[in-house]
Amino acid sequence: MTKIFDDPAAFADEALDGFVAANRQYVARVDGGVVRSTETPAGQVALVIGGGSGHYPAFAGLVGSGLAAGSACGNMFASPSAGQVYRVAKASSAGGGVLLSYGNYAGDVLHFGQAQEKLNAEGIPTRTVLVTDDIASAPLEEIEKRRGIAGDLTVFKVAGAAADAGLDLDEVERLAIKANHHTRSLGVAFAGCTLPGAGEPLFTVPEGMMSVGLGIHGEPGISEQPLPTASELAQLLVGGLLKDKPDAAGTRVVPILNGLGTVKYDELFLLFGKIEKLLADAGLEIIEPECGELVTSLDMSGLSLTLFWLDEELERFWAAPADTPAFRKGNLATRPARNLSELTEQESAPVLAASAASTGLAGTAVGALKVAQAVVVEHEEALGKLDAIAGDGDHGIGMRRGVDAAVAAAEKSHAAGAGLEEVLAAAGEQWAERAGGTSGALWGAAVTAVGRTLGNKESYTGADAAAAVEALRDAIIGLGKAEAGDKTMVDALLPFTAEFTGALDSGASVAESLRAAAAAAATAAEATAELSPKKGRARPLAEKSLGHPDPGAVSFGLIADGVAAYVETFANTSGERS
Ligand code: ADP
Ligand code: MG
Repeated sequence: MTKIFDDPAAFADEALDGFVAANRQYVARVDGGVVRSTETPAGQVALVIGGGSGHYPAFAGLVGSGLAAGSACGNMFASPSAGQVYRVAKASSAGGGVLLSYGNYAGDVLHFGQAQEKLNAEGIPTRTVLVTDDIASAPLEEIEKRRGIAGDLTVFKVAGAAADAGLDLDEVERLAIKANHHTRSLGVAFAGCTLPGAGEPLFTVPEGMMSVGLGIHGEPGISEQPLPTASELAQLLVGGLLKDKPDAAGTRVVPILNGLGTVKYDELFLLFGKIEKLLADAGLEIIEPECGELVTSLDMSGLSLTLFWLDEELERFWAAPADTPAFRKGNLATRPARNLSELTEQESAPVLAASAASTGLAGTAVGALKVAQAVVVEHEEALGKLDAIAGDGDHGIGMRRGVDAAVAAAEKSHAAGAGLEEVLAAAGEQWAERAGGTSGALWGAAVTAVGRTLGNKESYTGADAAAAVEALRDAIIGLGKAEAGDKTMVDALLPFTAEFTGALDSGASVAESLRAAAAAAATAAEATAELSPKKGRARPLAEKSLGHPDPGAVSFGLIADGVAAYVETFANTSGERS
């Protein structure tokens, strides 16, 4: 249970503020995360890491000399937004380009990917290396689909040391990719974790049982078995990892035994002793191991073992000195403090394009967003529970954060006299910014695209509505790249769009077409229960997901239904207009 907070919604931000207050010699706060508070030599590559909060020491605890230049810190277990990643990378950049590195999760991939595009477009060369160490999350043949857990540390450490050694972006990227290929992890959980303010844990493990193959976002494990003895557990972890040894593995290996939150150090040490013996029995030489909390999940009871298979250069960068709040190795000359005033210069808020013409219709758009908000509020808990079955349980709170921020931004923009396009652009940007997660990036892009397509007009026709619905579809598919049958919101979106354009073509009004489209979306969302997920966090847990509909598809159907009803009342009272 997470007990210490004033407002659970402010937990991640306030915890980060306090972390910075306790570590000012290492880090400074920027909008979106933290950066080093010390000088980085000009021309160095900046390693920018990040992910959801709740995983300390990952990610902010690893910012400092010899490791990361900055960390983008999302909400609890939710990816940082593209805006956060972008701002942290800008504040971290020292002229040598940026390497983004983070665990492979759909939401992070979307947001970091958008930030990378923006950085590159601005002339800051930016690359990405995903961490994919978790052997339980996909078979070896699909290694690129594996998620990242405690193996983050080896990839970050090697990349950070290479950057601090002055290597260029190509080299730092090459070494990070190699470190990832040489890193394999396997985790187990004994009990779930509880998000601040939540009444129940994200998942539970039955008394006397252990869940094998957990993720770090509270995703449940892949199988359950009776609680083993420490010796049996050591055997399970070492045996599993040795079976998945990378082709290039030598005989020198770094074991990292990571506690996920509430396993005591004494227990970790006890287990480590047995692991060390098993590795030695397998003819391996143990190099500079780690045993402690390195990537946690709030109060989760669980642990993971990582094996990092060394070669000469990986060993050199693993052993290189580092000095960060949570990870220190060797001795480094103290770096001069950075002039932090340059970080506090805020960019002024974007000036709204004056477009009074469609402010009335912009009000209708604000109304539609409020309807979506009411729907999300009503179903927040149910959506969270649905996501907890095979995902990470955050779909309800993520949608809530996103839609609340979207409504607030839309109202502000509308009050300032903006037209429909700007109102929806502001809403979309804030939705993606505040929601985190995959769905936040997708909904944010969708809302923005609808606004861009509709533009600011005095009135709209059926053809405008059809174009807007198509823009919604293209934005979600263009960014998420999911296909029909992948078990995502796209499985509700495609029937929605097809039904809408079909009904409109056959002479139905916009309101009637929307009603039919919403019904098609709801039916299709229910039907996703029979599908097996191929995208997103639910993918490693395909079996658990069978029989339950996809949360993103369900929320899409619910919102479509709410907006259809809204447009109907609108059409009935003031004639067909949008
Ligand atoms: P996260 O998966 O990052 O925790 P959410 O829980 O808010 O984010 O959203 C999960 C939903 O996002 C899924 O149920 C699915 O509908 C949708 N989703 C995941 N990946 C994709 C994708 N690539 N394209 C479209 N929708 C996706
Ligand atoms: Mg989720």
